Amino acid sequence: MRTVLDHIAVLGIEQVSLAGCFGRVLAEDLIAEAPLPSFPSSAVDGYAVRAGDAGRTLHVLGESAAGRPFEGTVTRGTAARVLTGGVVPDGADVVVMVEEVRLTGETVTVPPGLKPGTNFHKVGDDLGAGDRILSTGTLLGAAEIGIAAATNRARLPVRRRPRVALMSTGDELVEVGKTPGAGQIPDSNRWALLAALREAGAEVNVLGIAPDEPEPLRRLVVEALRDADALVTSGGVSVGTHDLVKPLLESLGEVHIGRVKLKPGKPFTFATLAEGRVAFGLPGFPVSSLVTFEVFVRPALRRMQGFAQLGRPTLPVRLEYDARPAPDRTEYQRVTLRRDGGDLVAQTTGSQSSSRLMSLAGAHALVRVPAGDQVLKRGTVVEALILALP
Ligand code: AMP
Ligand code: MG
Repeated sequence: MRTVLDHIAVLGIEQVSLAGCFGRVLAEDLIAEAPLPSFPSSAVDGYAVRAGDAGRTLHVLGESAAGRPFEGTVTRGTAARVLTGGVVPDGADVVVMVEEVRLTGETVTVPPGLKPGTNFHKVGDDLGAGDRILSTGTLLGAAEIGIAAATNRARLPVRRRPRVALMSTGDELVEVGKTPGAGQIPDSNRWALLAALREAGAEVNVLGIAPDEPEPLRRLVVEALRDADALVTSGGVSVGTHDLVKPLLESLGEVHIGRVKLKPGKPFTFATLAEGRVAFGLPGFPVSSLVTFEVFVRPALRRMQGFAQLGRPTLPVRLEYDARPAPDRTEYQRVTLRRDGGDLVAQTTGSQSSSRLMSLAGAHALVRVPAGDQVLKRGTVVEALILALP
């Protein structure tokens, strides 16, 4: 993973209107230009008065509704009716809730013992001018977008999304929905990887199915790379005669990884190409392609976008099965989780064959089982990569 990340640069900054900011990463600190709230704003419906007038009957001068301030000043012996969100008029230092007063014609009687500063938001209560609102690297969700909007920012500087060209390779593949001929299968990796890429924040250009022939494959890739930060392919990276992706990447750039000690996913390939572009050659087997995506591609795409957290969160889980290791490769075993009191308990999803996508569908986590002959016994607590919590 280090080898991949060492070759990944953070992408540039673009100004994006708030409508497009959800899920993006803030590229600069956001600083408040003005205090928030910008005026003393009533938190309740009631009467703005002077605390010194506690217990007295006051003359009501007028009303300050949200967006329609009362222009006068509250002086000794007077009050102004205020509604929630209305400006607390000059001179008043407390708002008394409507439930606590007695109204008689044009006068209002307020209770004794009023505390100045009650029931309204003072200027700068939420933010002072110059305060840092959000830090570089913050993921923009609903509340972050809300605070930016509240400080009157219509656009935010965010990291560009990675543009990824996605291609499936293999003469056996047909479009999903078409009737497969003899020996053919639907191109399922395209759809799985499209979803995974989008979840990782990428903009995807789907190239479709490339045949197992060097020239058409090269033409498709070269054309697609003109407008891409990264290329993701599936299939064609093992060592059969029809496995053409590795030689193609070797001719276009430098292959840094051509095989990994990982199960599933041994033939995973990573290359750097001209102008800072990168290519990920994922294995064809459906589980292998998604697991190597998870381990190598997703963190790389997140680095490009400036995320602080590159990998999935991990949590300790208690194995409910004996996790047998592969002798020579680290294995990412797919498990479902259930809660047992405060613990998470992991059960295998069954056969971990790299072609059996049902081992990953519905899985909550990946358990990393180190290579060797050490069985992780039922009851062992291990750190798992969390895909979704039950
Ligand atoms: P390969 O890495 O090209 O040798 O492919 C390994 C296996 O993965 C093949 O036997 C295919 O059946 C399967 N495979 C390859 N590409 C896809 C794809 N796009 N969708 C589903 N299965 C695939
Ligand atoms: Mg193939």
